[in-house]
Amino acid sequence: MGVPIKQQTSIASYIIGKKLKKETKYPLVLMLEPLFQCNLACAGCGKIAYEDHILKKRMSFEDAMKAVDECGAPVISIPGGEPLIHNEMPQIVKGLVERKKYIYLCTNAIMLKRKLHEYEPSHYLTFSIHLDGLKEHHDKSVCKEGIFDVAVEAIKLALDKGHRVTVNSTLFNGVDPEEVADFFDYAMTLGVEGITVSPGYSYEMAPEQDLFLGRKQSKELFRSIFREGKNRKSKWEFNQSALFLDFLAGNQSYQCTPWSTVTYNIFGWQKPCYLLVNEGYAKTYKELIDETEWDNYGAGINPKCDNCMAHCGYEGTAVNDSFKNPLKLLGLSINGGPKTEGPMAPELPIMYDQSKVEKSLFENPLMPIINKEESSVSKEKELVDK
Ligand code: SF4
Ligand code: SF4
Repeated sequence: MGVPIKQQTSIASYIIGKKLKKETKYPLVLMLEPLFQCNLACAGCGKIAYEDHILKKRMSFEDAMKAVDECGAPVISIPGGEPLIHNEMPQIVKGLVERKKYIYLCTNAIMLKRKLHEYEPSHYLTFSIHLDGLKEHHDKSVCKEGIFDVAVEAIKLALDKGHRVTVNSTLFNGVDPEEVADFFDYAMTLGVEGITVSPGYSYEMAPEQDLFLGRKQSKELFRSIFREGKNRKSKWEFNQSALFLDFLAGNQSYQCTPWSTVTYNIFGWQKPCYLLVNEGYAKTYKELIDETEWDNYGAGINPKCDNCMAHCGYEGTAVNDSFKNPLKLLGLSINGGPKTEGPMAPELPIMYDQSKVEKSLFENPLMPIINKEESSVSKEKELVDK
């Protein structure tokens, strides 16, 4: 069914309120990262690449609520690390439900079966389960056999107990569009509310950089997937705006609006988004909004942004466009989804001097401290067994 009407209405009234107040930069989503530790070590993940003393850190309930109240975003996405490792997570979720926030608790589901009783079903709470594909593909993506089966069992259990459940997938280089279509068909048979899909961003701290898709590759891939979907019997539901999917298929020349998805983690408010790790932190939400040099980021503006089509930068742009151009949405619905043939929308022009972009810009000063053997991977058994 995609995003429920009640949730859509609530977010729409939040946006209308901001527009009436003539606010130009406001968040739709807060990415609340309460820890970086995880019980998996996926090849495309950079979140787990910190030293042990950082991986052991936890955001307190009080700090989490303060951040939520400061920014006022109606949707709170809780990635990680693995949030279910955090002992105060049930309390944090309860605090968010009391504040009537729509929560996406992102989990690899390894601990969900054991922890599910700690969470009351609520239309404010959705378990967003990490699944990158069918069994073989997903297990390869998370670098551990058997995780697909664990996740599917947890999805069925959570649905059975009356929870809202979505599947979140990141698509990396080399995926086969037909296989992705088979996976989307399968996800729908599980009875989940929808799928959230994003091309993997070449996250600065991810150890395997050749996994990531360029912008052109991403658009061609999404066109192939959506083309495949038009020949399938099952109807895929996405937990994303229709215009963001249209953007992924190369039909919109959107610019990133990183303030629409702000990030608060154990270091503070991350500038400008959760993907770029070396741009600094603000102490307060106000400082983040007032002092981040937002104009320095985006496609064609900053080389670090050039391959990014991630939801954290562009979903907000698409939602805003839905308000400005409702006829575009109508056109998409009449045409049965994004256009998959014909010319793509033009790319944004490159504004920086390409000759001055050095390789060192992309080098990650934190990489030397990465030692997965001694950090999260070695903690896996300990955490799972706890
Ligand atoms: S499940 Fe994988 S991608 Fe998600 S936080 Fe853990 S290691 Fe990273
Ligand atoms: S394009 Fe936006 S979301 Fe992507 S890395 Fe740049 S600032 Fe972040």
